[in-house]
Amino acid sequence: MYILNMAGKKPKFQKEKQIFTEYIQKSGLRHTAQRDVILEIFLRTEAHLSSEDLYWLVQKEDSSVGHTTVYRTLKLLTEAGLAREVRFGDGKTYYEHHFEHDHHDHMICTECGKVIEFFSAEIEALQDEMADKFGFKPTHHSLRILGLCEDCQKKDSATAASGAQPRVRVKSVVGH
Ligand SMILES: [Zn+2]
Ligand SMILES: [Zn+2]
Ligand SMILES: [Zn+2]
Repeated sequence: MYILNMAGKKPKFQKEKQIFTEYIQKSGLRHTAQRDVILEIFLRTEAHLSSEDLYWLVQKEDSSVGHTTVYRTLKLLTEAGLAREVRFGDGKTYYEHHFEHDHHDHMICTECGKVIEFFSAEIEALQDEMADKFGFKPTHHSLRILGLCEDCQKKDSATAASGAQPRVRVKSVVGH
C-alpha cells in the first residue's frame, strides 16, 4: 500500500534541471552550485532578462556569483535549449524561457519599454510562404514590431522625428 505521495508536491523545474545536468556532463563541464542557483533564478523569473538583470537577481541570493559566470551560464542554457536569445533593438541581448514554451514574437513600446508577446498562426504561415518563394530554408526567426503601447498613445505624444530610428529602452524587471 502507498502512503500519501506528499500531495503531489513535485520538485520544481525537475525536467529543466535534468536537461541542464545532462548538457553539462556532455560538455565535460563540472556541476557547480553557482550554476544551479543561476538556473533556479532564471527558471522562476518569467520575463525577458539581460545577463545583467539576471546578475542582479542572483546577487540578492548569492553575492559570490560573478557577472561572467551568469553570462556564461546563460549561454549554456541557450545551447541546452532551455533559454532563447531575443533582441529588442536596444543593443542588448535578452533571454527568455524556451523549454516547453511556445514560439511567440514581440511588440516593443519605444516610449515605456513594455514588451508584449504575441503569436499569430497566419503570420507564421506567411513567413514560411515568403521564405519558400525565395527558396530559403528558415531555421528560426524573431519578429519585432516597434511602436507605442496603448497607455503611451494616451499620454501626449512625444513623437520621434519621422524617419528617425526610435530609441528602444526595454523595461527592466530589476528596476535600475
Ligand atoms: Zn514568429
Ligand atoms: Zn508604452
Ligand atoms: Zn518573449
